[in-house]
Amino acid sequence: MEQAVNTEHLWMPFTANREFKERPRMLVSASGMYYTSDDGRQILDGTAGLWCVNAGHCHPKITEAIRRQAGEMDFAPLFQMGHPKAFQSASALAAIAPEGLDRVFFCNDGSESVDTALKIALAWHRARGDAQRVRLIGRERAYHGVNFGGIAVGGIAGNRKQFGATLANADHLRHPLDIERNAFSRGLPEYGAALADELEARLLALHDPSTVAALIVEPVQGSTGVILPPKGYLQRLRDICDRHGILLIFDEVITGFGRLGAPFAADYFGVVPDMITCAKGLTNAAVPMGAVMVRRDIHDIFMETAPQGAIELAHGYTYSGHPLAAAAMLATMEVYREEDLFARAAATAPYFEDAAHSLRGLPFVKDIRNLGLVCGIELESLPGKPTARAIDVFLRCFWDEGVLVRTTGDIIALSPPLIIEPAQVDRIFDAIASALRAQA
Ligand code: PLP
Repeated sequence: MEQAVNTEHLWMPFTANREFKERPRMLVSASGMYYTSDDGRQILDGTAGLWCVNAGHCHPKITEAIRRQAGEMDFAPLFQMGHPKAFQSASALAAIAPEGLDRVFFCNDGSESVDTALKIALAWHRARGDAQRVRLIGRERAYHGVNFGGIAVGGIAGNRKQFGATLANADHLRHPLDIERNAFSRGLPEYGAALADELEARLLALHDPSTVAALIVEPVQGSTGVILPPKGYLQRLRDICDRHGILLIFDEVITGFGRLGAPFAADYFGVVPDMITCAKGLTNAAVPMGAVMVRRDIHDIFMETAPQGAIELAHGYTYSGHPLAAAAMLATMEVYREEDLFARAAATAPYFEDAAHSLRGLPFVKDIRNLGLVCGIELESLPGKPTARAIDVFLRCFWDEGVLVRTTGDIIALSPPLIIEPAQVDRIFDAIASALRAQA
């Protein structure tokens, strides 16, 4: 089964290339909750790939839809042309969108969805005659992908510093993680809603609200270690944006499609933004696809103000609404509906929460944060070696326990497929516990 693969040519993304290539971790097939590695081991997937394979791997219905589409029509442009599945996909997304967000722009991934939403925000203000609104606000520790717009509003120094100047017109709020007051909260933390008021203070003291186009936030910050919004925090952001005519964008690339046990985090929190960016679970990750769901009246301004016959928004990708992605997306939405996967995630969440918090008291565990089927386990860093502790857990889980977890800093992040069974939940947390005990 094991094959020698030449690893020298591939420059791997977000990877310690030299370390990886010394002892490659190769996955060769996948089904349901499991990967198979090149040495024939079954690896239990605690991360749904990269927070994306919500319905489990190689779902037969999705696989078949892609296979059929590949033989029927490989590609068709959406620039001044159309194909039915692109329109059907947009309608399928609109059908589960939060109230009013029923206009859909397609792209290829989460990073493009963020840049698309930021551009729509800027262009919308301009179309309304409010062209001085050019400022974009994000948060510290936000991850909004890797394109220039996304790293400008993103809040991860490591993702920005290699690239010199990014957009100058971005600013950032503090993130709401407060371990001192909220450590080991179950579900949403109690303290910190007032941090939202920093937005208003910043607007009034520094920027003048009338220069700000949009605020973008992940309802739950995933990639930087599962940072949950304190109770009431998102509603406060919504209220401040409303008071000052600022668009609120939820980046739901991770939280979309059932991760919290509801279609979108907007549904879970009962806070409706003006736009939602999504990707990943949109096609169960089987074909790359991203989308922006836009409030209908935002879309309509473009249609009302551009001259007849003109292109209303100078934006789009060759592969926007690609036929394979559209086919995968339509099948994925059917699977979510037929298998009631969002409700299934909600039903599994309490068991997952109990299992996560069973790690409390184990060596080096500093905080445990969870919501729906997301969990972050923050560890005390090894002195002078940030990230080393979590990477050691990741490697032990992979090699010794046959479990895939993810790390970010010294945080273990979990986001299993929504089909996970209780026994598999136990196996994941048992694996992490063993890895931690082995370090003690
Ligand atoms: N936005 C958020 C919140 C994400 O978590 C991610 C990826 O994890 C992205 C954007 C970028 O998505 P992609 O890697 O598909 O470009």
